[in-house]
Amino acid sequence: MSNDPNLAELVVRVHEDIQPHFGQGRVADYIPALARVDPRQFGLAIVTCKGETASVGDCSVPFSIQSVSKVFTLTLALGRLGDTLWQRVGREPSGSPFNSIVQLEREQGIPRNPLINAGAIVVTDALLAGRGPQATIAEILDTLRTLAGDPRVTIDAEVARSEADTGYRNASLANFMRAFGNITNPVDCVLETYFNQCALRMNCVQLARAGLFLANDGIDPIAGQRVVEAQAVRRINAIMMTCGHYDASGDFAFRVGMPGKSGVGGGILAIAPRRAAVAVWSPGLNTAGNSLVGALALESLARRTGWSVF
Ligand code: GLU
Repeated sequence: MSNDPNLAELVVRVHEDIQPHFGQGRVADYIPALARVDPRQFGLAIVTCKGETASVGDCSVPFSIQSVSKVFTLTLALGRLGDTLWQRVGREPSGSPFNSIVQLEREQGIPRNPLINAGAIVVTDALLAGRGPQATIAEILDTLRTLAGDPRVTIDAEVARSEADTGYRNASLANFMRAFGNITNPVDCVLETYFNQCALRMNCVQLARAGLFLANDGIDPIAGQRVVEAQAVRRINAIMMTCGHYDASGDFAFRVGMPGKSGVGGGILAIAPRRAAVAVWSPGLNTAGNSLVGALALESLARRTGWSVF
């Protein structure tokens, strides 16, 4: 096991390891625009803190990053609000599905963490303070383009619309929290912003590049720019490790051992602190709503590199 692997060879080996599993899992179908994606696709990209990159498979095919966006909105909100954000959202694993409503009633409208839907909706509400959805969506898109170093990052309007048309659960969560006073903007503005952030469309290379500051104490090592304070990054990574895969977060920590965040589009962003950011994408999901083949690929990568933090 090497800590400084030959990246080009590594991605080829990981690709070989998981080939027998291609097509496994079920594409998310509760968002109609996502149900049409071919589940046999797989992409992987690694960007290291030294600026090296390696990629394989469908690494240049854009996909809907969905809940991976929650990591970036959390970063923006912590940069803007600092620790006051924690008065409105917790940092404990939920042990519940991503769109669960049951805990919210018992816990007075304070979501367990910022990476479940309820928590991410609160974070989006915080980002909206003092302005409307358009300005907030523009800031989120701009941030992702800057972090990815690529102006081609876009928002898929069809996915955003599709989600707005069918987002009854997210609307329930937002209304419920508004009743507790933990949503401060009009619910339709919050949901419009949330659905657009989830509809961000990126490929694996762009996503790994955008997440690199999380591997480098908050500084984008390629641009040489500080994105957020080092302490905030430690906390974001801790929350990704404990909450990034919903109620399968423990299993992901056990198998992969890297902070990670999944999305129902089949993407996962994983962080090897002080080494690299890794993005995988394969649309077939396991029963917890996480990419089945993507998690297998990260398991293989962690085994081959020793990049588990444990
Ligand atoms: N946009 C999705 C939803 O709110 C995100 C869920 C996910 O990616 O896990 O239902």
